[in-house]
Amino acid sequence: MSTRQVNTPGWASPMFDETVAQFDAVAELMDLDDNIRERLRHPQRSMVVTFPFRRDDYEDVDTVYGYRVQHTITMGPTKGGVRFADDVNLGEVAALAMLMTWKCAIVGLPFGGAKGGVRIDPAILSSHEKQRITRRYTSEIIDFIGPERDIPAPDMGTDAQTMAWMMDTYSQQKGHAVPSVVTGKPPELGGSVARREATGRGCVSLLPPAATSRGMAVAGLRVVVHGFGNVGQYAAVAAAELGCKVIAVSDISGGVHDEAGLDIAALQAWVALNGSLAGYEDCDRISNEELFALDCDVLIPAAIQGVITDSNAADIKAQIVIEGANNPTTTAADAILRDRDVMVIPDIIANAGGVTASYFEWVQDIQKYFWSENEIVARLREIMATAFDEVMQISIKEGVDLRTAALIKGVRKVTNAKMVRGVFP
Ligand code: GLU
Repeated sequence: MSTRQVNTPGWASPMFDETVAQFDAVAELMDLDDNIRERLRHPQRSMVVTFPFRRDDYEDVDTVYGYRVQHTITMGPTKGGVRFADDVNLGEVAALAMLMTWKCAIVGLPFGGAKGGVRIDPAILSSHEKQRITRRYTSEIIDFIGPERDIPAPDMGTDAQTMAWMMDTYSQQKGHAVPSVVTGKPPELGGSVARREATGRGCVSLLPPAATSRGMAVAGLRVVVHGFGNVGQYAAVAAAELGCKVIAVSDISGGVHDEAGLDIAALQAWVALNGSLAGYEDCDRISNEELFALDCDVLIPAAIQGVITDSNAADIKAQIVIEGANNPTTTAADAILRDRDVMVIPDIIANAGGVTASYFEWVQDIQKYFWSENEIVARLREIMATAFDEVMQISIKEGVDLRTAALIKGVRKVTNAKMVRGVFP
């Protein structure tokens, strides 16, 4: 008799349901074993913590929610970022953890997927406040993480400094330095510049093969980037290096547009000084809505989830969309783009450069043997190129879009590992 769970789990949410629906569709196509299918639909471990947080003025003590979800621990430790945002919830983190499982499998890393988050707006925090939040969150999940267990990394609203505080908090508890507990650390602690740039650069490393498959020359392609954080900035830098014209970028304050091509270095310097693109004047200002509808060849959504929807997908003029952000395209929008023959390179391969560089960092920390920047960049390129080529082959062979092809590759790898391990006890 089946004992399958029918209760609504705590991670049920529109985003989680959409991620599972995506998995279900691929599982159906692959004729996946029912038991494996059922197992993979549930995150293995999900944790919700609440903790007190004292503001700098010593008057208010808020209660803050933190999350960490580990989707599957079959192939090794789990891996994934920690995001700070005022609307993070268990359903979002669980969905992103599942996507991390597929992402790691697609590029062949020995990890399952995880994701974590703290429900707070990082923009309203002083540096001291952010540090206290990070340290307390780390303490709350300390038994859940570790180099052989689960390895956090930066995500939205967190950065190398956040990882340094996590590493320090973990190491203080263990009584010795444990750099391999997190990745995306500052270079002084064994992190690499390549990690910070890897997601954006990795995305754009797929632009030449994608353009070639569409018979487009890379030089002169007009590129639009939504988001000008870690991912968007380096995607813009890398696209400009390829000889493309980056005609628009945007952040939460709105967008900047110049048909002649933006000066990316000047924009980076402005953002480093002023915190956002607001006030930058050497070009036209546009809204984020206008940015998505711009006439261009390549669109790189590199900020947050759910920005390409059924209300703007029909306006997109780009022939190629490279998903730098996690989950930027809703399922409905994905179908619209597919019908319009827009090539969408999905997040689970497009932004896998970040976690691949994280994997390198973890390996180096464990071995205490560090590679040169050139070695890191070369190995990253090779992994991304090979994975993309394999996904393209599956897409052609199975007659499916790239998202489905990438999922087939990821799900197949995880399924095979689960099958050979069997069920305990
Ligand atoms: N935030 C990154 C992602 O979504 C983190 C991955 C990692 O480096 O562990 O891919």
